Amino acid sequence: METILVDMDEVITNVDFVAKVEKYLGLKLDLSGQVGYYLQDLLGDQKDAFFEQFRKENIYENSVLVPGCYDVLKRLQEHYNVYICTDYIWREMISSAGDNLRNKFNFLYEKLDFLDPRQYIFTADKSVVQGDIKIDDKVSNLMGAKKKLLFTAYHNKTLTDEELRQSGIVRVNNWADIGKVLLDGYDFPETSPISELNEMIQRLASEGTINKKMVSDGHHTFGDLYEERAYLFAALCNSFPHLSWKSRKHYDEENDPMFNGDFIAGINTPRGIVTYHLKNKYWDLFKVSERERAFKYDGCGCDIKVLESLDEEKPKVKKKSIN
Ligand SMILES: [Mg+2]
Repeated sequence: METILVDMDEVITNVDFVAKVEKYLGLKLDLSGQVGYYLQDLLGDQKDAFFEQFRKENIYENSVLVPGCYDVLKRLQEHYNVYICTDYIWREMISSAGDNLRNKFNFLYEKLDFLDPRQYIFTADKSVVQGDIKIDDKVSNLMGAKKKLLFTAYHNKTLTDEELRQSGIVRVNNWADIGKVLLDGYDFPETSPISELNEMIQRLASEGTINKKMVSDGHHTFGDLYEERAYLFAALCNSFPHLSWKSRKHYDEENDPMFNGDFIAGINTPRGIVTYHLKNKYWDLFKVSERERAFKYDGCGCDIKVLESLDEEKPKVKKKSIN
C-alpha cells in the first residue's frame, strides 16, 4: 500500500487567513497576481499587533472541512496508508506552538472521526517526513514524493501547467479532483530530469554523501557563485553606505536566532530592504555601519526587482584618479 501525506491548512480546512488579514487591515487585498506564501508579510509595521491579537484565537474553533474532504479521505483510507502531515509552528508566534498543536489535534479528532490519532504527524519541517504521495498547497512541501498533488491556493495559482509538469506536479483544485487522480486511475507525468537531479542533490547532501558547494554547471560550482555573490554584494553595499548595514543578529533574535556562523547584510532601497545571509569570514568586506539587530523583515528578502530600484539612488563612490 502506498503512503499518502496530506497537508491540513488550506487543504483539509481553510481558516480563511486572507479574510482575517483583510479584516485587520480594513481593506480588500488584491490576490490576482503573484502573491507570496506568507500573506502576513503584507502587514508591514502592523504585523506584531496583528499576531498579538491572532495568538489569542483558536482559529480552528469555527473552521469546517473543505467540501468533499471527509468522503474522499475516507475512501482513500481503504486503498492507501493515510497520514495528516501538518506544520504547527507559526514563525511569528513560536511560543504559542503548543496551543496551536492542541487546537489542530482537537479539530482533526472531532472532524475526521475515521482516522486514528496515530495517523497525525505534527512537524516543523516536512522535508524530513517522506511518503509515496504528498498533497499540499506549498510546492516545496511536495518534494521527495513519487506523486505530487498541488492543492490550488491564492499563492500558487500563477504557477503554469508547464512549470508544474516539469516538476512532475499535478494540480488539484478540490477534493473531487483528488478522488479522480488517486481513486479513478491517473497517469502521472514523467518526472523531468531537472526535478530528479534537484531531488538527488538534496538527498545526497542530506545523507552527507556530497557537498552541495561542489555541484557545478561545468564552469562554476555553487561554492564559487556564493563566494562571488558575497564579494559583489559587499561592493554594492559599499557603494551605497548611507543605505547599507550589517548585523550579527536578526530583528527578533529571541524567536528567530541567526544561523550558526552567519551574519546578515542589507540595503534599504527605495522600494524595500534587500538582504543576504553571509558567512562570518566576509564580515570585514562590508564597510558599512553595524547594527545591534537587523531591520525588521519587510518581505523583500533578495527580490531583484527591489534591488533594481537602486537606479533611483546615487552611489556614493569616492573618485580615484587612474593616473
Ligand atoms: Mg497548507
